[in-house]
Amino acid sequence: MDLLTETGWAAPRITGEPALAGDITCDVAVIGGGVGGMTAALRLAESGADVVLLEAETCGWGPSSRNAGYLTNSIAADPALLALLFSRSKVRALFQFAEAAVEFAQETIEHRAIDCDFEKVGIVQAAVSKGQLRKARRNAKIMAEAGSSAEYVDGRAAGLPDGFLGGMREGVGGTLNPAKFVLGLRGAVLASGARVFEHSRVQDVTDSDSAVIIATANGRVRARQALLTTNAYTKNLSIAPRRLVSPVWTSLVETEPIAPERLDEIGWTSRAPMVTAHMILESYRVTPRNSIVFGTRRLETTSGPLLARTPSTRVVDDLVRGFRDRFPGLHDVAPQRAWGGWIGMSSYWLPVAGEASPNVLYSLACNGHGFAQAQYVGHMLAGRLSGEPMAEDLETIWHGRGRFWPSFVSGPALELGWFGDRLSDRLARL
Ligand SMILES: Cc1cc2nc3c(=O)[nH]c(=O)nc-3n(C[C@H](O)[C@H](O)[C@H](O)COP(=O)(O)OP(=O)(O)OC[C@H]3O[C@@H](n4cnc5c(N)ncnc54)[C@H](O)[C@@H]3O)c2cc1C
Repeated sequence: MDLLTETGWAAPRITGEPALAGDITCDVAVIGGGVGGMTAALRLAESGADVVLLEAETCGWGPSSRNAGYLTNSIAADPALLALLFSRSKVRALFQFAEAAVEFAQETIEHRAIDCDFEKVGIVQAAVSKGQLRKARRNAKIMAEAGSSAEYVDGRAAGLPDGFLGGMREGVGGTLNPAKFVLGLRGAVLASGARVFEHSRVQDVTDSDSAVIIATANGRVRARQALLTTNAYTKNLSIAPRRLVSPVWTSLVETEPIAPERLDEIGWTSRAPMVTAHMILESYRVTPRNSIVFGTRRLETTSGPLLARTPSTRVVDDLVRGFRDRFPGLHDVAPQRAWGGWIGMSSYWLPVAGEASPNVLYSLACNGHGFAQAQYVGHMLAGRLSGEPMAEDLETIWHGRGRFWPSFVSGPALELGWFGDRLSDRLARL
């Protein structure tokens, strides 16, 4: 099996725009060209601002092109936990935010005619045990009461594979090829008039009363305002709030192509994309090239710098074991490649945006479900930088200049989560 350092989704390689060289000025500098940063830069440029986008590699190089491609209205925390921790109105507002994010991303695909194999089929939080089935039923109720499009479905009726008993179907979103999506979005940004510098890693950001100064190896940007959309990598920038983000490495595996009739034989007639209801989810989806992409289940973290890396064989072996357990009818299907990326977890597992300093805003709308949410937050933050009143959905996740409590993301905690899930799998078989 190939272990990749870049995305496994087939996409043409790009060499990238030239790096920043020398000193320049602009209205707004956006730092980090994932889907969040690109969306913000696009809105700012289209509203007439003089925008500079600085990206360490090429736009979309990070999780934005590596993810599993679920356009989802899930929020990282379990809906039941959200209902326990927050008021009814806050839970409603969070789901309204998440659903608006999916609609925003869908609109981008349609309006900008981005060719990314988008299939608007919803996503099923699928149960592999009676306990998970109860959880799915309960979550469907909580989400429906919070005004979100979710319903409980039976496994057979929903055309789920054997062994998946049923679950909660999100009524919005679906799947796409994220690498194709970022290429399309990058094209729109380049056409918008935003000045894009790739291969330009920001080393330092300072905010004085008169300007924000952003330093790269070979140049500096002097801006009135700046936006940090560097996700997990925000950890490396000293201007970011302390404890804003904990990086978590997430891995995916793709199988060889599978004959469609074999998917019918195992009962996966709907081809519905699925995530399981474990503490650390497993995801399984069919791709347009008839392979299955599956992942997560076991997460890693680091206290060191975030380097380009491949998934570890320990995690990949565990993912393949999980695939074999869930799909005994596909026991002979070979995994072909694996890749992964760093996601950024906020200490309370919810999307968050705020102010790092008076003229520098940040977004951390990720927590592993941020593909649509990062775009929507980038869009709303661009509005805020243009002087618009705070959007209601931005208010929902707004942290202002607030501090962050210590994160409980650590190597041992993530291993414990994995262990708890395997134990629950075993108990479900008794
Ligand atoms: C394996 C995997 C599977 C996932 N699956 C899903 C999924 O199915 N659905 C979903 O909703 N979400 C998923 N996610 C999460 C989702 O991909 C992210 O939430 C989303 O892409 C975040 O976008 P972003 O723009 O905030 O950040 P990123 O995509 O992380 O972009 C940040 C960018 O900043 C750049 N950068 C970093 N530091 C600097 C610097 N100092 N100077 C300049 N540039 C810098 C990086 O190179 C990068 O391009 C997954 C993530 C991973 C890794």
